[in-house]
Amino acid sequence: MRLDKYLVQVGVGSRSVVKKLLGEGKIAVNSQVVKSPDAKINENTDQICYAGRMLQYQQFYYYVLNKPQGVVSATEDKREKTVLDLLAPEHRRPDLFPVGRLDKDTEGLLLITNDGQLAHDLLSPKKHVMKTYHVTLEEEISKEACAKLEEGVDIGEEKLTLPAIVEQISSKEILLQIREGRFHQVKRMAKAVGNQVIALKRIAFGSLMLEETLAPGAYRSLSEIEVAKLYEKEVSQGTVTRH
Ligand code: URA
Repeated sequence: MRLDKYLVQVGVGSRSVVKKLLGEGKIAVNSQVVKSPDAKINENTDQICYAGRMLQYQQFYYYVLNKPQGVVSATEDKREKTVLDLLAPEHRRPDLFPVGRLDKDTEGLLLITNDGQLAHDLLSPKKHVMKTYHVTLEEEISKEACAKLEEGVDIGEEKLTLPAIVEQISSKEILLQIREGRFHQVKRMAKAVGNQVIALKRIAFGSLMLEETLAPGAYRSLSEIEVAKLYEKEVSQGTVTRH
């Protein structure tokens, strides 16, 4: 890998900052000052130091964000604030992206990463990753309507929605667990049983649960174990706790 690319990736700074630091002789590879940006390094075996401190290479980053309402699940947007704008400057990287989308008015758990393979697996319709939503409805919901949601409903596409799990938590609130991620799926499912979503919050995604301590707009890094669990085949087996 090129030395300048490596330095940008580990977060030393932008390409121009990195070029300046290199020119100033502040970067050493295996104890030798290296000034040329295109020098080739082995990120796994070479010791790269900046200001005398050894840099650690990290390829992938994983954050769990409690998305607040009013921000869009995109990497950039000309008008709207994006979920990536919520990251502190030291955590921003050009290759980060949200895994899937939550609507602008939906809040809750959103994974942000630069691990394309994991994102692909989690979003693959074949993997059936379980997503749990706390749904607040405009009208009271009947037992029959809950049963219909569980069986599968017609949301105007060729196929009915896959079987879901519904837990009623009040006359107008349900926990809905679904294994698909069709466009506006929860809102369209509510509509299919003559109701309307007035507030939507995702509280679980695969093995990840949204903690109450993570305020809207806040985020944290995932631990190695949490990432490993997402990679497991049983990624879809989330269990749900009420929020
Ligand atoms: N279903 C919806 O309708 N909206 C979301 O944001 C997520 C699931």
